[in-house]
Amino acid sequence: MFSAAFALYGQSYQPKEIDYEGLQMQAPMKIDLILAGNFGEMRDNHFHTGLDIKTAGVEGQNLYAVEEGYISRIRISPWGYGLAVYIDHPNGLTSLYAHMKSFSGKIDSLAYSKQKKNEAYVLDEIVLEDSVYVKKGEFIGLSGNSGSSNAPHLHFEIRETKTEHSINPLLFKCFRSKIPDTTNPTITGIKLYAVSEKGYMIPGKSIYYSCKTVEGKLIVNEGQPIDISPLLTENAYLAIGIHTTDKLNGAGNICGIYHTELSKDDKAIHEMKIEYLNFDHNRFMNTHQDYSEFDKNNKHIHKHFKTVINPLAIYVRANGILPWNLCNGSYKINAWDAHGNKTALEFSLKKTGDEYSKNPFDEAGKYYFPDSVNVMLREDFQVLMEPATFYEPLQRIFKRDTVSNYLSPIYQFGEYSIPVQQKYDVRIKVPELPENFPIYKLGVGLISDKNYLSYVGGDYVEGWVEGAPRNFGRFVLIVDTIAPVITPLDFTEGKIITKFRNLQLEITDNLSGVNSYKAYLNGKWILMEYHRREGKYVIPINERSKPILRTGNNKLRVIAKDSKGNESEMSWTVVF
Ligand SMILES: [Zn+2]
Repeated sequence: MFSAAFALYGQSYQPKEIDYEGLQMQAPMKIDLILAGNFGEMRDNHFHTGLDIKTAGVEGQNLYAVEEGYISRIRISPWGYGLAVYIDHPNGLTSLYAHMKSFSGKIDSLAYSKQKKNEAYVLDEIVLEDSVYVKKGEFIGLSGNSGSSNAPHLHFEIRETKTEHSINPLLFKCFRSKIPDTTNPTITGIKLYAVSEKGYMIPGKSIYYSCKTVEGKLIVNEGQPIDISPLLTENAYLAIGIHTTDKLNGAGNICGIYHTELSKDDKAIHEMKIEYLNFDHNRFMNTHQDYSEFDKNNKHIHKHFKTVINPLAIYVRANGILPWNLCNGSYKINAWDAHGNKTALEFSLKKTGDEYSKNPFDEAGKYYFPDSVNVMLREDFQVLMEPATFYEPLQRIFKRDTVSNYLSPIYQFGEYSIPVQQKYDVRIKVPELPENFPIYKLGVGLISDKNYLSYVGGDYVEGWVEGAPRNFGRFVLIVDTIAPVITPLDFTEGKIITKFRNLQLEITDNLSGVNSYKAYLNGKWILMEYHRREGKYVIPINERSKPILRTGNNKLRVIAKDSKGNESEMSWTVVF
């Protein structure tokens, strides 16, 4: 069960005791290191936890262990890190190389033995200590574009082994010195907000100011004091967001900022430093930034204030929520990259008026608040949300549409575009169904803004179906009784496959999705890979599968299951 205290009072920033200047590790590649992405960059639902290093636009660059150590984890997946290797080093750090094309011989043998043992292509295996040793600089495999990668590159991470916190690799002199950067960070603008005492943004009460450079100096509002009077709201405060990014030498990619500080009248009030990231909290990036500016306008605004449900350990200090009467004064923003390049912006604020708008959060029954348990109980639709399920007060939107092509009405709860931190419980009442209806095949479906139906999952419990979505939107009851469809692409019954390098199939499912897939040749498990981009399942005919092949007739059997347990199986005779 979720612990509220954990999220609400997470760790604060503690500098790591790591010898950033002294540790000598080598680069993971021998080509020029140019970054397509840096540490702490804001991505969908997370801060980026490593460096994305360009590989000259191609796959197949040699990768080397940055330090001696033991292989501690191997992953193979059509998603995420793709093919990835983790190495634990004696210096207390773990290095990670992701989106690889292939592993070196000994790592590949280890990976295949685990795949064979599990009878599965997808692998995420913690390897026992002392299994496979690699020397510093040893070849570990080739760079690639596997997993959720859009172009060939190496995703490289350094983690503190004991905490598994991901550490900014550019803080290490041994890496930083190989990735020169003399480009100053960019401050594009600032945004002023009215916020509640808990740091929640008051809807409609914010103003964005673009920066411009005049006579070499960065200014906002033509250098004149900004009047904050239009923001004045009852039971609210002033807070500031900074639109800032960074670029590195030799690449046009927009990267993330490392360190910023906001001060008022020469006293620092809010400061953030992305030295390391904790995976348990990384999704709270959605509350660190101004989410709708990112979602709608692709602007990276770092809020220089935080809500009570923000446990990210990146805040050196956090006193950015200012009473209206103490706002007048001069402000300064400093932004640094990991190389120490700095950009500064100065501006001043003043309050001229004294008219306060009503605070919509004061209106009873209009919002759910993120720091509470929230429950909505209707006769046929129910919701339970633990604290920290969402980030900003949620308008109580509920609609029930009985014009529906599904087994239930369409229930709208919240808006699909609002980010959700963690799964919450949704229950839909099962309507009257014919006798012998397969109630255990019922599940919750979610209809997106673009009318795409996705499967949330769910279990039948005493007249209800309970699911755990990580989205708001329109929910319906669906039933999945149809097993996946298996279609061979380049072979048929009786096919002579002597010259084949692989066998290709398509496996599709109508609703809950293909969940597991296996192939057997003459009764023995055989590797079947899923190549997500081509939408194909591929059985390699190679040194590993050939010993199972007999001269003459062979029996190939393929089994696929969907997430509701519907299973299909097909067999063919192939001739070798
Ligand atoms: Zn990456």
